[in-house]
Amino acid sequence: MKRERPSVSVQDAQSIILDSITPLGPEMISTFDAYNRVLFRDIIADIMIPPVDDSAMDGYAVIADDTIGASKNIPVRLRVTGEVQAGASAAGKQVIKGTAIRIMTGAPVPQGADSVIRVEDTEEEAGYVKIFCETVKYKNYRQAGENIKKGDKVLSRGCRLTSANLGFLASLNRIEVEVYKQPTVSIISTGDELADIGEEMQTGQIRNVNAHTLYAELKRYSALPEYSGIARDTFEETRDKFLKALKSDVVISTGGVSMGKYDFVKEIFSSLDIEIKFERVNVKPGGPCIFGEKDNKLVFGLPGNPVSTLTSFIQFVRPALLRLMGADKLHKPMINAFLEEEIQKKNGKVNLLRGYFTIKDNEIYVSTTGSQKTSVLGSMSGANCLIIVPEDITEVKSGEKVLIQLIDHSETW
Ligand code: AMP
Ligand code: MG
Repeated sequence: MKRERPSVSVQDAQSIILDSITPLGPEMISTFDAYNRVLFRDIIADIMIPPVDDSAMDGYAVIADDTIGASKNIPVRLRVTGEVQAGASAAGKQVIKGTAIRIMTGAPVPQGADSVIRVEDTEEEAGYVKIFCETVKYKNYRQAGENIKKGDKVLSRGCRLTSANLGFLASLNRIEVEVYKQPTVSIISTGDELADIGEEMQTGQIRNVNAHTLYAELKRYSALPEYSGIARDTFEETRDKFLKALKSDVVISTGGVSMGKYDFVKEIFSSLDIEIKFERVNVKPGGPCIFGEKDNKLVFGLPGNPVSTLTSFIQFVRPALLRLMGADKLHKPMINAFLEEEIQKKNGKVNLLRGYFTIKDNEIYVSTTGSQKTSVLGSMSGANCLIIVPEDITEVKSGEKVLIQLIDHSETW
């Protein structure tokens, strides 16, 4: 008879996983390749940005006091004594009382000037410019160090490198950046019934879905996936696949964790001395879910139904990968939403229902995306959130608030 440990809550399972992880070490990579990687060290600015006072507009560098009283009907006339282009130096150029210097966006402001008039508020002819409005000091004028001062911490260790962050690094002339290494992850699909895409289907076979959904999720979180192929339902073949896969930092298998005659995964954990930390979670979908550890390698035996595979990945594997990669934000955001239908469920397990939230009049509403059977991937592919119905709740009425977990949200990938 197969003996089982008691099931753990989702939160306890997450804590058990996170407590077993030491983040990977650093590596230097090109800033061009650093998108979606996690920063290993704080970035401290060693220069000012902008490096000198510069213009925020195309127009004329002036002395603000010279424009007092200027209007459309009675413009002020200033003598144009020169021009500064973006990328040029303003050395030797000076604005003195009664004069202006033509200036382009991003060009250094010449000495003497304390404001820039937009070209739209001027008209130039015969060496003079008419100014049609008053201005004040530092209008359209960016001061040196306004964006970043020397010594500022501009990015913190643990942050994910977004496109804007990479732009920041480029502005600081960082050709390379120190990031956490990427975890290598082997994916094993178990099951005699599986045929990989492109393979000829035998009677009774179904397509291997999980290798692809997992591969994509791993790419999304900048892990390095390797597909180990299908382990047929024999103890030896499945064990052999696990043994080889243990070269990776993380092993993920799908299927073979239920109570069936050919569900070998748990026995294989034991036979390979992978210490089982939990084997069942009090959640639906995804109840049978094994997590173990061997020599700092993390091993996840996820359930086989495609939706259970994905929801278990989101709750358990994803935070593990992010901790391995040193990320500071590990969890998907949760928020309250008004339920637009009625939900009924059995007492005893947290339910994660596939939902779609929308925002109307600044309020968030959510409804389910169709069949909640764990084999129905369509309602997962149409979902942008999981509706979390707690263990002890059996009914939520339409119009009541529910907690939703945002699963496709850029803040945390
Ligand atoms: P198991 O726990 O191995 O009995 O798998 C549970 C269910 O998930 C069965 O109906 C399997 O056919 C299905 N399943 C397992 N692995 C996959 C996979 N890689 N792709 C699609 N369905 C799967
Ligand atoms: Mg199976």
